[in-house]
Order: sequence, then C-alpha cells, then structure tokens
Amino acid sequence: PQRIFPFQRGEADRPADAVESLGLKGADLSLLASLNLPVPPGFTISTYAWREAKGGRDDLPVGLRSDLRDQVAALEGVTGRRFDGDRRPLLLAVRTSAKTAMPGLAESVLDVGLNGRTVEILAEELDDPTFAFRSYRRLIESYAQLVFDADPTDFEEIADEEAEEKGWSGEPSRADDWRALIDRLIEFLSEELGVVMPQTPFEQLVEVVAASFKSWRSAPAVAHRTLRGIPETSGLAVTVHAMIFNERNAQSGRGRAVSRDLATGRPCLAGEFLLGAGGRDHHDRAHETIDLAEAFQSGASAFPADLDQLHDHVRTVETYLGDLAEVEFMVGDGQLFLLQSRVGRRNAGEAVRLAVEFTRDGLIDEAEALLRIDATSLDQLLHPSIARDESFDVIAKGMPASPGAATGEIAFTSERAQANAAEGRKTILVRHETYPEDIHGMHVCEGVLTIRGGTTSHAAVVARGIGKPCVTGAGTLRLDAEKGRLHAGRVVLKEGDAITIDGSSGEVIQGVVTLVRPSLDGDFATLMEFADRARHMKVRTNAETPSEARAARDFGAEGIGLTRTEHMFFEGDRVRAMREMILASDEKGRRAALDKLLPMQRADFVELFEIMAGLPVTIRLLDPPLHEFLPQAEHDLEETAEFLGLDIATLRQRVEALQEFNPMLGHRGCRLAISYPEIVEIQSRAIFEAAIEAGRTTGKAVIPEIMVPLVSLRRELDFVKARIEAVAAEVTRESDIRIDFLIGTMIELPRAAVRADTIAEAADFFSFGTNDLTQTVFGISRDDAGTFLSTYVREGIIERDPFQSVDVEGVGELIQIAVEKARRTKPHIELGVCGEQGGDPASIAFFAEAGLDYVSCSPFRVPIARLAAAQAAI
Ligand code: PEP
Ligand code: MG
Repeated sequence: PQRIFPFQRGEADRPADAVESLGLKGADLSLLASLNLPVPPGFTISTYAWREAKGGRDDLPVGLRSDLRDQVAALEGVTGRRFDGDRRPLLLAVRTSAKTAMPGLAESVLDVGLNGRTVEILAEELDDPTFAFRSYRRLIESYAQLVFDADPTDFEEIADEEAEEKGWSGEPSRADDWRALIDRLIEFLSEELGVVMPQTPFEQLVEVVAASFKSWRSAPAVAHRTLRGIPETSGLAVTVHAMIFNERNAQSGRGRAVSRDLATGRPCLAGEFLLGAGGRDHHDRAHETIDLAEAFQSGASAFPADLDQLHDHVRTVETYLGDLAEVEFMVGDGQLFLLQSRVGRRNAGEAVRLAVEFTRDGLIDEAEALLRIDATSLDQLLHPSIARDESFDVIAKGMPASPGAATGEIAFTSERAQANAAEGRKTILVRHETYPEDIHGMHVCEGVLTIRGGTTSHAAVVARGIGKPCVTGAGTLRLDAEKGRLHAGRVVLKEGDAITIDGSSGEVIQGVVTLVRPSLDGDFATLMEFADRARHMKVRTNAETPSEARAARDFGAEGIGLTRTEHMFFEGDRVRAMREMILASDEKGRRAALDKLLPMQRADFVELFEIMAGLPVTIRLLDPPLHEFLPQAEHDLEETAEFLGLDIATLRQRVEALQEFNPMLGHRGCRLAISYPEIVEIQSRAIFEAAIEAGRTTGKAVIPEIMVPLVSLRRELDFVKARIEAVAAEVTRESDIRIDFLIGTMIELPRAAVRADTIAEAADFFSFGTNDLTQTVFGISRDDAGTFLSTYVREGIIERDPFQSVDVEGVGELIQIAVEKARRTKPHIELGVCGEQGGDPASIAFFAEAGLDYVSCSPFRVPIARLAAAQAAI
C-alpha cells in the first residue's frame, strides 16, 4: 500500500477510500486539487503509514523516511523552492487529519524548514525581517510544545525578560533584538529542557510528523473516542503543504466563503475575510473583516485577490457537492488558495429554503429535497425558540414535553394564571403535575412547567394538543406551593418572578429570554406540497377544540383521528355537570346530569364536523377514570358540595370511594361504558344529532367514526356497539334521516393486539393507542416514567423514551401482529394510530412499513408527520 499521496492543483493521487486513508483535511485537499481548484501543493501521509509507524510509538520507519524524502524533493520541484535552500527556502505547514474532528490532536505546525540560516534568507527575500523572525519564533515555540511538551508560559516569561532588557514591548522591531530573543529561546531549550530542535529541515519535518502521529494517544483524544465510540484503530493521517504567508500583509488573510445567501437561498458569494496584517496581537483584527457578499456586490473593496475567481471556485464546489458549499481559503500576497470545503451548516428554516431552491435550480429532485430535511427540525419553524446567541441561566432540566419556548411570570395555580391573563400579563403555569381542573389555566398561560410527569402525562398531552410549550418532570426543582416558593438549588423564585421554559430542550431558565418567531413562508408551503405528492399515508390530527381543529386544518390535517371527549368536559360549567353525573347515586341522577351535557357535546361536535367539512372525524367515547373530574382542592370541594346540595363529609366519602390504587388500569375506557351505558347513549346521541345538523349546514355528508377505548375483549366491543346501534336506530326513527357511521376501537392493550383478528369481526376500524399500549407492554406508568426514563436514556439502557418513539422490537412487533391479524379478518379494515408517536418521524417510518393507513397527531406536529410520511414513502 501507498504511504504518501501527493496533490497539487489539477493533479491528485486520490485513493478510493480517501477519508479513511487521508482523513478529512487530506481527503478534502486532494478533492479540491482534483477539481482543478487552487490548493497549496503538498502531500498527505496516510493512516496506513501511521499504522506502520505504530501510531508514532517508534521513530518513523525507514521506508516512510525515504518516501518522505522523495515527496519533499517532488515538492521542491513543484514550488521551485528548496528545503534548506540558499535562496527561496521551502517552508511547510504540517496538520493532523483524522476522519472526524477530534480534540487533543496536534495543532498545526507552521514554517517547518526555518532555521538560523533560512530565517535570514527569508527576511531578505521578503524584505521583511520582522515577519521572518516572527515566523521562526512561532515555529520554535510550537515545535517545542508538540515535540518536547514544553510549557508555553515559559516562553512568555523569556519574552518578557528580553523585552525589559532590550526595551521593546509586544515584539521586537529591530532584527538584532529578534536574534537575541531567538537565541534565548534556543538556549532555554538546551539548558532548561536538555533538548535540541534540529536545524536540518528534514529532521524537523520527521519529528513533527512523528509527534503528530503520537497525539492520537493524548488523553483528550482517547476520551473523545471512548465517548463517541470511535475505534482506536481508525487512525490518523498528516497533511503537509507549502506555506501560504496569509498573515504577512494587507495582501494576505484568511476567510470562509459560502455558496448561497442563506436569507434567500439564491446563489451568491457570501462569508467573510480577515485581513492578515500580522503581528502577535490579534486583538484589533475584528474591524479588518471584509464581508464577501458586500464586497462582491459593490465590486470595490480591499479584498486582496480576485473575487470573481473565488466566486467561481465556490460554485465549482457547490456543483460537485450538490449542496450548500462552505470553503475555507487563504490569500498569500494576493494569491488565492482553497484549504478546506464542506457541506455548509444551516438552521431549520435555511434548510427548507435551500432544499426548495436547489429543486428550483434543478440541482436535486423533490425526493432528494424531502430527504434533506430533518422532519423533527420543523418544530423550530412552528414554534417560537430561544435566541441562542444570548446568555442565560439554566436552573433545571426536565423532559421536553411540548415544543417551543415561552417566557412569563410564575403562577402556581390556574386561578392566578387566569387573573394574570385578565390583566394581559403573560404566565408560566408551574405545578407539581396538572389535572383536568388545570385546563383553563393551561389555556390562558404561555407555557407549562411541572415537577413530576413524563412526555405523555396529562400536562404534556394537553399542552401538545393546544400547542403550548411544556416541560415536565423537572425533578430537581422543589415546589413549595403553600409558601409560594420554587427552589432551584440556591435560587428561590416566587409567584410573579420571570421564568422561561424551552419545551424543545427541557430547559428551565431564570428570567426573561428573547424569543424568535419564524414564519411559515412560501418555501415551507412548497416543501409541504412536495411531501403531499410523495406520501402514501394520510395524516389526521388529535383535536378537541375548534381552535385546535382549525389550526390542524391550516397545517394540512386530513381529518381528525382522535377527539378525546373527556377534554370537552373540563371547562367551567361542564365540569360541574360532569361531577353531578359522576357523583349521582343512581341511574336517574346520572341521566339528569347527562341531559345537561348533551346539548353542549352536540354543539361541540357540530363545530368540529363543520370545520372538518366532510373529512373523517373520529370521536372517542369517554375514557379516563372518573376521579379525574372530581374536585381535589379544598375550596373546590366546598364549592361542589354546595352546588350539589351535599354536605362536605358525604362528598368526601363519595370522592374517596372513587379513588383507585391504579387508576390507569382501573375503572376507565369501555369499562365505564359497560358500568354506565347511559354515558355511551348520551354521547352517541350527541354525535348522531350533530352529524345530521352539520350535514345540513355544510352540505357534505358527515360519517362519524365512533371509537371505543381500552377494549381487550371482543365482547366488550359487542356490548358497547349494541348500545350505539340502538341509539342510531332511535335517532333515525326520530329524524327520519339515515345515518352512516363507523364503529371501531382503539388497540391499546396487549390482549386486544393479540386478539385483533377476532375483534376485527366487530370493528370497522382500529386505531392504535400507543400511549397505553406502551404503558401496558412495558408495565411502565406513563405518568411516573419521567422520574427514571431519563436515567435509562442517559445510561444507554434504552435509546429513546418509548412513549415518544415507538419501541419497534416490542410494542412494534405487537402492532405488526395486530395489523396482520386484523387484515386477515378484514382486508380493508381502516388502520391508524393516534398515540403521541403518531407525530414522531422515526415512529412514522415504522407505521408506514407496518402498513397503517394514517397517523394522527397533535395539530402542531401535522407538518412534521406529512414530511415524515413522505420520507417513509421515498
Ligand atoms: C393512547 O393511549 O395512545 C391514546 C391515544 O389514548 P390516551 O392518550 O387518551 O389514553
Ligand atoms: Mg389510551
């Protein structure tokens, strides 16, 4: 195998596995050279040679030394300069080049080839002794640090002493003072460290290469590889090229050029250039920066090389990459050199813009444009985010439960949040956890922070639904609600103090932070059109309120996949009627309360059907355990007792009687419907009457899909279905209008998944409830997961929170079994998913593969789901 790979403009010896053999920098230089772009001539010593040299443990092997000699000779020919020459000495830059960037590797060593003799020749050649000596000093210092492990502060001290003795400051201005300083440095090396820096350029090169190889084993590099799982054997290459004097004068400098204007996505030369006025003190360089876009457009600037050429080179790189190009370059005495190129960085908004622009320019097709966008990153475009260029104090970290950032004053109760809202003040609602009674507080606040809970707990689910930022499970915070204090370590916050949460990262920040609100401009819409053309799966939304339903339609939802009807009972009067129903002592009492709820439910459904105008709407029958609706706080208990005409002791007794040890596995879902069929009856009646009414107002037939929750037995579904069908018959008789409807069930318990073939006989559709399915398959409570799942992720026990992203191996396998069994019974049964994972790109890819017809997710995730479904189809 070849040890060394030379390159120069238009000519590069480039191995097939360039990055493996030459590292990033080496591979890139040979690429640029092969594209006939101006690069400094040089060569890369490959990872093969590194292996041969035992990673720098030994002296360089004889074979490598002789190859190096040959390469230097060739480089002398190309540059017309000579190592240790009497005129025009050859000077080299030596840089480590690994497959990925890594801390701890040797810094570049520049001007290898300078010695006591060549420095004088260079000073004369350039007519610039200061520049020559400054370069030599830098070489001595960096050589000594790399090869002899010298301490840079010693050099500072020597310079300070010299400066004082000779009366200069900063750096010498007279050649003799320079010579004296350099002598002192060399003397220090031999006398204090007992080492000698070789005066022979070739020996300098050999030692620098050996030490560069060795830096692979430095502690920070080893730690980095352990952390990232990078194999120890992947190895290091070293790139050597002719020096560019980019720091010499105003005809020199270094810069970074980009191939597009990120604000418009259009081709353009952009980036910046730093004039290289030289000197050890770089502090006043800032004002010498040239904005390339400005310079290119105005045509007149202090840029010391040919801007048109730079522009053309950057375009060449972009064409080669087929993507935004970012190029690092240097100018030495008016001559331009490219040193590195890469695919340019971009934020979420820029990524969308560029993908669309590249498609318009015909550089990529729509499929490629879609694949280039990280679907999850669209979140940043749909919600406000924190201006990251400012500094702020993160006081806690919880679960990222609902994306977006929000700032406001702390309120510990929903009442306080509502009072703030009435005065037009912004609030972050801070609770241990939230309950149905907090819904109105959540609606009026900017964001929600809970101390307990996970990513599918009540606060998280509600917040995502209404598009409010939310952080849950911020367990290091201590909330003393009685005293009205929030403790974050030593920081103590009280109600009214400003706080910021970032529901995308889980960060909790003290004080106010600037938020950035991006807009959904034309490119975003275009990308969504691409997505809609590519995808097979439909995307519906989980929505209960008209505003959610409208938002979802604006985001492109193709119907509602889940209406959690219980959420409709959390508002003011409704919760009262609900409590009356729950606390009624007999069926008559329950029916009386339900009769009050009927018109409200009907009105809600009419509105949803109208907004969805003929698109499918899935309405789920009451699901949660009843105690969730009951008063908890003392004042709430008192008010309820008075309203119901009960004494408080009786009320307490009834509330207690409804408490369960494991409410999530208790009296909920279809179990409620079976205990209290009157609930099913009233809800079905509301649905059918609303369908008739909305059919009339919209002129479009409404075909409601009624969904039964938490079924595990076919007979449960039969029981509830019979009640629904009876009501349908009744409403048809009363109205003389035939009603079309579907009855289906959620598949959210393992038994239901396993018995999907039998259950499918009684169902028109299935919707996988991955929240409960994950909870029951893992046996992990979705409301308590936050306290330990983050540790699981950190310790690498699981890769991701299985409530957020489907556990393909376990829960996923069960879903596949259910899909297959259901289709065996009913080939065209409609299959969807409505758990939180319905909005998670990785899960969506799995659902597409499993053959589901649609996913349903919270409104703000609809665009993400559209893109992810498209990516899954490509
Ligand atoms: C589910 O369990 O996945 C589901 C959608 O229902 P919920 O979250 O309301 O229990
Ligand atoms: Mg469920």
